[in-house]
Amino acid sequence: MPDVTAYAIDSPTGSFERPTVTRRDPGPTEIAFDIAYAGICHSDIHTARSEWGPARYPLVPGHEIAGVVTAVGSDVTRFAVGDRVGVGCFVDSCGDCDDCNAGQEQFCSQSIGTYNSIGRDGKPTVGGYSTAFVVEQDYALRIPDSLSLESAAPLLCAGITTYSPLKRYGAGPGKRVGVVGLGGLGHMAVQISAALGAETIVISRTMSKEADGRKLGASAYYATSDPASLKPLRNSLDLIICTVSDNLDLDPLLALLATDGVFVMVGLPPTPVPVNFGRLINRNRAIAGSNIGGIAETQEMLDFCAEHGLSAWVEVISGQEIDRAYDDVVASKVRYRYVIDAATLDA
Ligand SMILES: [Zn+2]
Ligand SMILES: [Zn+2]
Repeated sequence: MPDVTAYAIDSPTGSFERPTVTRRDPGPTEIAFDIAYAGICHSDIHTARSEWGPARYPLVPGHEIAGVVTAVGSDVTRFAVGDRVGVGCFVDSCGDCDDCNAGQEQFCSQSIGTYNSIGRDGKPTVGGYSTAFVVEQDYALRIPDSLSLESAAPLLCAGITTYSPLKRYGAGPGKRVGVVGLGGLGHMAVQISAALGAETIVISRTMSKEADGRKLGASAYYATSDPASLKPLRNSLDLIICTVSDNLDLDPLLALLATDGVFVMVGLPPTPVPVNFGRLINRNRAIAGSNIGGIAETQEMLDFCAEHGLSAWVEVISGQEIDRAYDDVVASKVRYRYVIDAATLDA
């Protein structure tokens, strides 16, 4: 495959530059595709700025990737040229351990991240802020025809990150689900929870996004900036999906859980958060974490979103705008996901 254009950053404080990177030719079971759009996930920013440990520079982030197949290896059976495909947070795993066999490839000890990992070829993996991609067919997702590629791209991380715990903990009719934080993850959690039939309640920092929250499917909206207003919610939520990745005060949120309620963290605060175990013991409450989802469940999520007419709310940007977009994401200014138009990368 020829060299392809990418946007890379070369230090935690650097800005994005435009090198060319070489993608391998697709092997017998691999597909090549032209990238149409790549979402900007908060994880990209944490990684690019080495906030989760030293990154491998130069770094090309991007694990919310959507595009169209341009070539397939000789033994590819699942995809054909012209198919609409996506790639999420990982591009490989061993395929034969307990986690892989359970469809939880993301936990395989040999799972390979879409960027900032070392691939089987011994080279650093290069993410989706680029014009083309090569991947094993078993790690590519099929994007349903009714989803636009730009609004499908963020589903590959933000969609599955929220879909998986909502399903696991039984969001559905008769359940009350709280979504903490209305950003990239939160706006998907609200849509999916409501589509599953749960009564869905947003708990944000302020009331500024209330209209959007209701449009996304929430039946009520509360602000942590006014703690007294949360009182009516006490002991009432069966499930909380917390998407906040800043440090946060857990205790007032745990107090909102009903008996046997579960608090699931999908954001990753930078430092440990203190827990008042009295809150948990009192009503058999639980705290859990959740990390994306396996390939089969990611496909199930895409099909669910297509069936229910859900997709990410996006702002399409050019490659030249990535640095500004990063600052805007950190400042919670995006509504609700920036997506890079790969056609602008060569401009
Ligand atoms: Zn992500
Ligand atoms: Zn494995």
